[in-house]
Amino acid sequence: MLDCAIIGGGPAGLTAGLYATRGGLKNVTMFEMGMPGGQITQSSEIENYPGFFEHDKTGMDFMDTWQKQCFHFGLKHEMKKVERVTKTGEHFTLYLEGGEEIEALTVITCTGSTPKRAGFKGEDEFFGKGVSTCATCDGFFYKNKPVTVLGGGDTALEEAFYLSNICSDVYVVHRRDEFRAAPPTLDRVMRKDNIHLITDSVIEEAYGGVMGLDGVKIKNLKTNEITDMANTGLFVFVGHNVNNGVLKQEDGSFLCDMNDWGQVIVDLSMKTSIKGLFAAGDMRIQAPKQVVSAAGDGSVAALQVIAYIQELA
Ligand code: FAD
Ligand code: NAP
Repeated sequence: MLDCAIIGGGPAGLTAGLYATRGGLKNVTMFEMGMPGGQITQSSEIENYPGFFEHDKTGMDFMDTWQKQCFHFGLKHEMKKVERVTKTGEHFTLYLEGGEEIEALTVITCTGSTPKRAGFKGEDEFFGKGVSTCATCDGFFYKNKPVTVLGGGDTALEEAFYLSNICSDVYVVHRRDEFRAAPPTLDRVMRKDNIHLITDSVIEEAYGGVMGLDGVKIKNLKTNEITDMANTGLFVFVGHNVNNGVLKQEDGSFLCDMNDWGQVIVDLSMKTSIKGLFAAGDMRIQAPKQVVSAAGDGSVAALQVIAYIQELA
């Protein structure tokens, strides 16, 4: 029986492992289906993690030392996908890909979330090189420069507002003439002089060269007219898939309470509605979707796990 099973080896899972093992738990395994590191390993740079100020380092370089530090105190890594977690009595069962079953006293789930792609030409090619899904991460690279935002939901308009305080102009491209975002959010955006709404339009193509994105072509769906928007960064906010599959039970329900968008409901201690089950990082409600906050969540969850196990003893 594991003291603690951690599912996911991004910043939240690795930090949870560090705090759990350094805090004295002996039997802690992190189940990460790939190499540990998480989403940030796809980034070409990271500028907003306090204490890390090396511009020539990629997200992969950045996470390399995390692994060394986190495994130093005894955290074990199983490179396996967890299919499902259930709870029977006081303990949890993890069902791994391939049929193996593992029992654990506590579980911290940190499987992250994945921004959806819109599917236009050049999106994948220039992802991380001018096409971004994170305004907090990359907005500053466009200080006093124009940017384009794709999407018409709450995230797109909230992030457009955030960007409008940094960038010279924000062009919001939305495929319909009605916005999905809440009316107060739309009102706030419409009051900003430097946000321009381009409706009934999609991104036809993102183009550039070896140095990254040079611009985007915007197509008006009613007139088929193409507008070339040169020298812009592109932020895509067309929804997120929360990686919550591990919490899905055989009958289709979730093991713990979730909100309407599939995010795990936690309190300030990262406790879910199920005793002994914690969630941390991008998959939880109101996640800022930042490395620093995912790591913070992981530490909080691990400290709570230690306290919970002490109470059980
Ligand atoms: P993730 O990092 O998503 O890690 C989840 C892990 O769980 C993954 O490794 C995945 O393989 C694993 N997993 C999922 N399901 C299973 C399963 N069933 N079984 C086993 N393992 C599983 N943030 C910043 O603060 N600054 C930045 O500059 C920045 N730039 C970014 C650039 C890019 C291109 C991207 C994509 C993200 C960026 N972010 C940045 C956001 C940051 O990466 C995330 O907020 C952070 O990684 C979330 O950490 P997490 O541990 O919650 O989840
Ligand atoms: P969302 O509500 O699903 O909106 C996605 C937007 O992207 C929609 O406007 C959609 O257009 C557009 N879109 C989807 N696929 C596209 C494609 N391939 N090409 C071009 N456009 C595309 O996603 P979200 O904004 O991330 O929000 C997710 C959930 O979180 C929502 O329920 C939202 O209310 C909630 N949320 C709430 C808050 C808040 O309360 N403060 C903040 C953020 C998010 P259509 O409108 O035409 O479908």
